[in-house]
Amino acid sequence: MSFRVKLFFIFLVYGLLLALATELVIVKINFEFLKKESSKTALLYVNELQKNFESHINDSKVKLKVIRESKIFAKNFKDKGINEFSKALFLDIAKTSPDIMQLRYIDKDGNELICVQRDDFKQDAYILDEKYLQNKAQRYYFKEILQLNDGEYWLSNLDLNVDEGKITQEPVIRIGTPYYYHGEKQGILIINIFMQDFLNSITSNDTYNVYLVDSDNYMLVNSSHKNEWNRYLGEKNPKDVKEFLNLKNTNDVYSFSFKIINHQKLKIILIPKEQHITVLTRENFYELLWVILIALALSLPLSYVMSILPAKLKAKVDILNKQLENEAKEKDVLLSLFDLSDAVLFKWNNDENWSVSFVSKSVENLLGYPQEDFITNKIVYANCIHHDDLQQVQKEVEGAINSNVYFFEHQPYRVVTKDKKIKWILDSTVIVRNTHNEIVNFVGYLTDITDLKEKEFELKNLARVDQLTKINNRLFLDEMLMSQYYRFNRYAEKCSVILADIDHFKSINDQYGHLVGDKILVEFAALMQNSIRKDDYVGRWGGEEFLIILPHTNIKQATFLAEKLCNIVAKYQFSTVGHLTASFGVATIVHGMNIEQCIDKADDALYAAKEAGRNMVKVAKQS
Ligand code: GH3
Ligand code: MG
Ligand code: MG
Repeated sequence: MSFRVKLFFIFLVYGLLLALATELVIVKINFEFLKKESSKTALLYVNELQKNFESHINDSKVKLKVIRESKIFAKNFKDKGINEFSKALFLDIAKTSPDIMQLRYIDKDGNELICVQRDDFKQDAYILDEKYLQNKAQRYYFKEILQLNDGEYWLSNLDLNVDEGKITQEPVIRIGTPYYYHGEKQGILIINIFMQDFLNSITSNDTYNVYLVDSDNYMLVNSSHKNEWNRYLGEKNPKDVKEFLNLKNTNDVYSFSFKIINHQKLKIILIPKEQHITVLTRENFYELLWVILIALALSLPLSYVMSILPAKLKAKVDILNKQLENEAKEKDVLLSLFDLSDAVLFKWNNDENWSVSFVSKSVENLLGYPQEDFITNKIVYANCIHHDDLQQVQKEVEGAINSNVYFFEHQPYRVVTKDKKIKWILDSTVIVRNTHNEIVNFVGYLTDITDLKEKEFELKNLARVDQLTKINNRLFLDEMLMSQYYRFNRYAEKCSVILADIDHFKSINDQYGHLVGDKILVEFAALMQNSIRKDDYVGRWGGEEFLIILPHTNIKQATFLAEKLCNIVAKYQFSTVGHLTASFGVATIVHGMNIEQCIDKADDALYAAKEAGRNMVKVAKQS
């Protein structure tokens, strides 16, 4: 799958997921909103019911009040006997509402004196024949109403009617009030009301399943009419309403207390109907489906367009990456050459310590420290440079930086390896600058020239050694004289010289031959060499003449040494020839005199010694 196709699908899926997530949030918000709305609606519904019921009860109270205040009814007590007008009044009142089941007057002994009855809801009311009238003195409602004051009303529980001691299926409620005549309690007035119709109107609701339960959570009526009144209908262990409903999730259950009767404390429970929930869910589902379709329709072209530019960029980046990869490979090949060779490639940062940003592995062969020690700055390269050469190296770097060159080569310098060996290095450095001509780093190419240097020293030494006597030759002496002369002028360091010449050497040659003469020269040179200090230099000046250079030595000390040497020679037993002598001329460098003049002085003194009879020391005049 190409990058662009991948990108297209990623954008597409991303768009869809985003739409889906947004929709889910909206659904959730909707749902919460609906739930809130639903609970509000439930409350409104219950308030409505409450009002209906109250007006129902109030109607009955008004009816009772009409009787209480009726003069026709009051006449019964004046005449001390129930008249027919009162019965007609009861009948007329009962006829005004089809839900009145009974309207009765019961005297204070519990005798029903007037009873208007309706056998069924909405049927005609009639006056019950006297022979059917009963004594209700033992009934709870009679007792409770009789205890009330004038104008007080009593309300029964909402339950099933008891007819001749038997429970009927008829839900009923009773409203009663005591009847007083001239301040004296005469009996009670009571209305029984058919409640089935009202209860039906409560429970039939499109949105909710309605449950009317008593304070102990026992079912009275409900929308499905199952298990109604089971507390009253002889069920031994009536179930709690929660068991009936098998309520697991109580979130959507709205429970309200129905404030109608003091004792019963009815509750009304509303549960949104499955159907109602399904409709809401379906609506949400369709909405979700629409959102997905729209998101898909939008995402398709958008993803297509959005994938174009990144795909182009990616193609470019791929090419660049490939190039970089190839370059890196080439670079690796180049660098691996350094890893294999003896040469070392260094890349130093332009900072105080010349910290190393790269060094080839071969550095370990050269300096004994592993590559990582430099890269981690555990070892600083400047610290590997020989103490005596560091200043020179630094100066050369500074010089190169200041003169703006791109490439420079150091004078060969020494480094000290990990195991304290000294090596000579040839260091060629490239100064890498950026476009602003600021130095980025230094790339150095280091080669070990220790072997070359040693050979050079050997050659140099060879050139300065006299081949016969193996001590310093004239070249060495000349260089040494120049250097001492420089030190005298620069640092006022004293320096004296002794010129020694074997006496009558010509006659040795003549007498014993040239080879013996040579041998004597070798012995004489060794004798001189062994008789001077380490800091003094002796060399063959020419023929049988030797020059001794004495740094830090004044004329007096030099004369003393010359005397000593003169004695040593005179006492020495040379091979073949036995004893011989030598003459010595001493001079010291003084201001205003060049080195040749100083040697001339010594030569003059030597000549003087010869003149004076040889085997002696003469000192040049100080002037
Ligand atoms: P004086 O006491 O005055 O110095 O007398 P001398 O004979 O030592 O001095 P002279 O200058 O007359 O002679 C020096 C001789 O040294 C001459 C030369 O043949 C000899 N000579 C110079 N170089 C060598 C050498 O390398 N080997 C040998 N065997 N003889 C040498
Ligand atoms: Mg001589
Ligand atoms: Mg001589």
